[in-house]
Order: sequence, then C-alpha cells, then structure tokens
Amino acid sequence: PGSVRALHKDYRIATPQNFSSYESIKQDFKLEIPEYFNFAQDVLDQWTNVEKAGKKSSNPALWWINENGEEVRWSFEELGSLSRKFANILTEACALQRGDRVIVILPRIPEWWLANVACLRTGTVLIPGTTQLTQKDILYRLQSSKAKCIITNDVLAPAVDAVASKCENLLSKLIVSQNSREGWGNLKEMMKHVSDNHTCVKTKHDEMMAIFFTSGTSGSPKMTGHTHSSFGLGLSINGRFWLDLTPSDVMWNTSDTGWAKSAWSSVFSPWSQGACVFAHYLPHFEPTSILQTLSKFPITVFCTAPTAYRMLVHNDMTSYKFKNLKHCVSAGEPINPEVIEQWRNKTGLDIYEGYGQTETVLICGNFKGMKIKPGSMGKPSPAFDVKILDAHGNVLPPGQEGDIGIRVLPNRPFGLFTHYVDNPSKTASTLRGNFYITGDRGYVDKDGYFWFVARADDIILSSGYRIGPFEVESALIEHPSVAESAVVSSPDPIRGEVVKAFIVLNPDYKLHDQEQLKKEIQEHVKKTTAPYKYPRKVEFIPELPKTVSGKIKRNELRKKEWKTL
Ligand code: ATP
Ligand code: MG
Repeated sequence: PGSVRALHKDYRIATPQNFSSYESIKQDFKLEIPEYFNFAQDVLDQWTNVEKAGKKSSNPALWWINENGEEVRWSFEELGSLSRKFANILTEACALQRGDRVIVILPRIPEWWLANVACLRTGTVLIPGTTQLTQKDILYRLQSSKAKCIITNDVLAPAVDAVASKCENLLSKLIVSQNSREGWGNLKEMMKHVSDNHTCVKTKHDEMMAIFFTSGTSGSPKMTGHTHSSFGLGLSINGRFWLDLTPSDVMWNTSDTGWAKSAWSSVFSPWSQGACVFAHYLPHFEPTSILQTLSKFPITVFCTAPTAYRMLVHNDMTSYKFKNLKHCVSAGEPINPEVIEQWRNKTGLDIYEGYGQTETVLICGNFKGMKIKPGSMGKPSPAFDVKILDAHGNVLPPGQEGDIGIRVLPNRPFGLFTHYVDNPSKTASTLRGNFYITGDRGYVDKDGYFWFVARADDIILSSGYRIGPFEVESALIEHPSVAESAVVSSPDPIRGEVVKAFIVLNPDYKLHDQEQLKKEIQEHVKKTTAPYKYPRKVEFIPELPKTVSGKIKRNELRKKEWKTL
C-alpha cells in the first residue's frame, strides 16, 4: 500500500491513503497535470520497479485464460519487455512514426494488451475496433481514420485485403496468427527476433493518445479523440475511487476489446493502481462460464454490463462460491434496482454503478464506503464538476430534471475527450454555455446523488408528461414474466405519442395466454410507478436489438414504430 501512495505522487494525484467518505475524496483530491506524460513509462515501468524491489504483491500484470485451459501470466516486467519488442516492430518493420494511427482489431488475446502498450511507447495513436466489424465497417474506419497500420487476426485479414487497395494511407499490416499470410507481417514470428531495447517516446500530456469509437447506440459510432492525460492519467480516477483497486486485486472486466470500456477497465484503471488485469477469451457471453470463472479464479473486482447482470441473475447460482470477490461494478447503461437486489441476494454483494461515456472518464459513481441508493448513479467523480442544466445552460436546483453537463469553462477538466475527430460541428454541438452536454437527462437529489432519466432522444412525451424509458423498464422487470424490455414512444392519434414496451419473456411464461399476460403486466406497472407511465402498447418479442457491447438500441425500435404510421 505504501507504494500506491508513492506512485500516485509520481504522477501527481494526491489522495488520502484511506479515504473515509465521499467528502474526503472531493476535498483532498488534487491533480497537477505534468507537461509530459506517458502511461507506459510513468506508470507501467514504475510498477515494474516496485515489483523488482519486491514491494508489490506477486500478482501478475496480466492473467489471461481461455476455454481450453491455456493460461498466460505476465509480470509488469514481462509486459514491459514484450511491449518494447512490439514497439520496435511498429517503428522498424512497420515504419510508423509518432502520431501515426494504428487500427487494432483483435479479440481478447494477450497481444491486444501488448498492442495497447506498444502504441503508448511509440507515441502512435491506437484505434481499437471490435472483431464484429464487417468488411464495409473496416473500409470506413481505415479511410476515415487514415490509419497507416492495421493489426488483426486470421478471421478478419481477408476483409482487410479486400479493401486495402482503397486505403491509400495503409502502409503495413500485422497478423496475429500461427500461419503466415502474403503481404502481412507475422507478429508472433517477428517477436522471436526483435530486440526489447526501446526508449519510450516522451509524449506531451495533451498529445493524441488514442481514438475510440462510441458504442453506436443512437446512430453511427463517433470517433472520440483522447490524449495521454485524458485517459492515460484520467482513468486512474476510476481505478482508485470507483473500482477500489490495489496491487493485490485481480480485476475482471468482460467488455469487448473494441470499445472505450476496455480501455477504462481492462487497461488504464487497473494498471494505474498496479492491479492484475484478468481476461477470459470467451468468444460469446456464456453465463455459466462467467460464473465458473468467477468462482474458480481469485477475482476480487468484477465489472460487466447491465445486460450481463440481467442474464447472470437468471441462473441458479447456489452451487457457486465466490470466495475472493469483494467488489462488483456496472456501467454503460442504467442497471435496474431489481437486478441489484437479486445480485445481492445471490452473492451478498452490491453492484456499484458507474456512469460515463467514451468521451469521458467516470462522470458519476458509487464509491466504496458510500451509501448506495439503488437506481442512482451515485455522485460526481472528483475529476468533474457535474451539473443539471436547462436549455440555456443555467444550473437547475435539486429535483428538477435537465441535461447532464460537465463544466468546461474557465478550465477544461482532464478526463474529457478533446474532440470528435474530423467533426468540428458535432464537437461544437456538445457545448452550451460553460458546459459540455452529455446528451443524457437526469436530476440530482437533495443528498447530491445523480439519477439517470434517459438519453435525451429516448424521452417519451405523452399527453404533456415526460417519461424516461428506464423507469418503466425497471418496473416491468419486477414482474416475474419479464426477462428484459425496451420502452419507446409510439405514435398515437390523440396523445401524440404513447409508451410502448417491447418485452422479452422469461422462458416459463412463453406459453401463457399473451393477452391476459399483457393486461397483468400493465396493471403491475400502474401499481409500481405513476400510472400515467404504464405501457399502453405491449409487444412480446424474442430478443431486443442491441449493440455489440450489449446496449439496447431503443432508437431502432422507435424508428420502426414511427415508420409504420
Ligand atoms: P453513441 O454515442 O454512439 O450513441 P453510446 O452513447 O452508447 O453510443 P458510450 O460512450 O459507450 O456510447 O456510452 C455512453 C452512454 O451510455 C452515456 O451517455 C449514457 O447514455 C449511457 N450510460 C453509461 N453508463 C450509464 C449509467 N450508469 N446509467 C445510465 N446510462 C449510462
Ligand atoms: Mg454517446
């Protein structure tokens, strides 16, 4: 623990060693942004030193497993050496220069982590992509990002080759494979021969570090520019306060490698605290496999998406013991209070919800030691001044719903993206007065807890009432027949729009009389929440449309509703 404090001092986050309350975090939090900052050198290599001096728990830096029982464990020193080799491949064989962009489309394999660190060391700009991208998506990303290098595997290499001639900036291709492929450098082979002698580039704190695509929940994914300080330094906030990590922790985050959430919870947050990053190469989300892994390995901190928690709590978990698990978190979507309660009943643990965006580090969170109000996103992270705003950028008092904003004037806080790449008008549209507008609606209560209402686009206006879908969905999921639901607006000749619920039933209810069930569910919602919110229209569907990261695409359902008019 002593070294945690020392390390924090190294990169200038001064926090009390044992924060006792939210107030103490806010009060004592200080951060000076250094002129130069590089996570590989200033954090990872420091942990290597701590490790070498025998002052750190023996946890590896990366602990990777797959379904065949294979395992990889790298210490910080090994991670350092291997990533230096990779860095030399980027600068020598791939001839990349500082600032050049590199697209990395790999599943959860150890090389993905190496690619992250190698990009840091060389000052090249990492652009992660999900392995579910199609040929068309890859072309779009290569062209729009002007990437000079792409790193991928056997599965996606043919798609890259099919479009490469249309990408004039693309100079080099690396494949992670046992086999060689014409026109591609074979990473595994090259790693055998390259030196691990490499000097980390001295990056300015505000130099571009990576470009992350947003999840595309409400439209096409946007390219979000992040600097070495915005994510490289900023995500230590998540690691320290929300994830409550120390060097003796083993953190498992199940996110897909293509999204910023992986940078959040599988790279920067855990490693900033010297914790072990645990990874399971699971091609598909398989609840029993997740539960087995959680009970078999000494995972202490677990992070997954609400959609995953909803699936997990449907399983009989009585045969599993989670001996080491002590802290569970969720982010990316609101998590229903009912699911938090079921998880607590089954594991004895709370779910600490966090709220943030690809554009930001943690905006609000439930921090260890804070009283959780189920359904609330917690309180603002010490990095940000978060406020609820009206349409003119005025701060609203507690209890009033408005736009969730982050103060950016007079000083833009670190932990915030710089811009949407090549999209100045989109960037400008997020600014209102002194604030960055998240696009989400919410309110703050008298105790300073923030409550998510909806994405601004998802709000339903019915007979003069404003209705957020999440509240209705949370009422619906309390009914035993409902596995999941998505609530959207639907046209109505009298009310303009009404609430419509798309419901996925639990298997036991699939054969029930559907008309009867529909009425029962409607009555249930009228009783559990304000009656005007009940879904006047209900449709049972086999599954909800979701993004790769498992978020409900309400806009797809909504568009269909309004099209059939
Ligand atoms: P796109 O911007 O492409 O439509 P996206 O907004 O889903 O996709 P992300 O940056 O991955 O892309 O997600 C951030 C958004 O996720 C937030 O703006 C918010 O709407 C939602 N979100 C994240 N965490 C929470 C939470 N704890 N509660 C409610 N909503 C959340
Ligand atoms: Mg968004």
